[in-house]
Amino acid sequence: MVTASGHATAADVSAPSDALTTGASPRKRVLLAAPRGYCAGVDRAVLTVERALDQYGAPVFVRKQIVHNKHVVQTLEERGAVFVEENEEVPEGSIVIFSAHGVAPEVHEQASQRRLKTIDATCPLVTKVHKEALRFADEGYDILLIGHEGHEEVIGTTGEAPEHIKLVDGPEGVADVQVRDPSRVAWLSQTTLSVDETEQTVAKLRERFPLLIDPPSDDICYATQNRQVAVKRIAPQSDLVIVVGSANSSNSVRLVEVALEAGAKSAFLVDRAEEVDPAWFDAVTTVGLTSGASVPEELVQGVLALLAERGYTDVEDVRSAQEKLLFALPHELRRNLNAE
Ligand code: SF4
Repeated sequence: MVTASGHATAADVSAPSDALTTGASPRKRVLLAAPRGYCAGVDRAVLTVERALDQYGAPVFVRKQIVHNKHVVQTLEERGAVFVEENEEVPEGSIVIFSAHGVAPEVHEQASQRRLKTIDATCPLVTKVHKEALRFADEGYDILLIGHEGHEEVIGTTGEAPEHIKLVDGPEGVADVQVRDPSRVAWLSQTTLSVDETEQTVAKLRERFPLLIDPPSDDICYATQNRQVAVKRIAPQSDLVIVVGSANSSNSVRLVEVALEAGAKSAFLVDRAEEVDPAWFDAVTTVGLTSGASVPEELVQGVLALLAERGYTDVEDVRSAQEKLLFALPHELRRNLNAE
């Protein structure tokens, strides 16, 4: 069963298969985690760029990487998307798409000053966190935002209420946090963090601020959570876990950490099959394989093909949840922006 927000419930997590429980097979095998790869927010963001290219023709400008995946960005560039870092790089009056990670309100204001026609591909689950930040700020709370300094999502969320938001970068950051009134403090988080580490951070925050208010619902999104649950199921049986994803993809990097914490003997992040190092396979019988939320399945299939060449032909799907969540495309795509 999947809840309205797409979370896996306990009933989704089926009992481990014989192969997982016995772990006795001497054959080289692959444990293929599911869910893996594209989440609803990434799917929507990539489709948004594709639809905009179809609707308006190239070039279509995109502020920042639409999602944190090299292959996706290159593929869209080949179709005519032009990726820029800031609005100033976009010619006045042009169409610009904002990435899935969200932007601060001042980015919308800059775009309006340049008469840019904006399409906002911010994931609705990131928008939800922005709204929570605004509400807590309106009510006078200081907001402790758990996240990674410099990440685009953190910059965007902080921009909603910069006077009220303090960044807490993991459990080590808790001791340094200063608030105006310890009795009016709430916490929020980046959507793509390690669930376990965030729980530790919140526990430490609560030791310092016993009246700490929780967010109304989980900020770490369903896709991040489901991919971490899935990698935890394969990691204890894996001599090597390969996570397909880009180095700037927060949720992909977390999957490597979670795999190691869950018992994988080794774990590595690769953008594509060509980055897999033959030296990793020494004494490896079982390879775990998964991918981050911004990774197209074809890249996982590329790694599977490479593993097959190395004799890892016995592939077992290990599914811990079903995902059915889909988001509607941004409303701006339903209008003719050039007529406005
Ligand atoms: Fe949205 Fe989560 Fe996907 Fe980020 S990882 S785009 S928050 S669904």
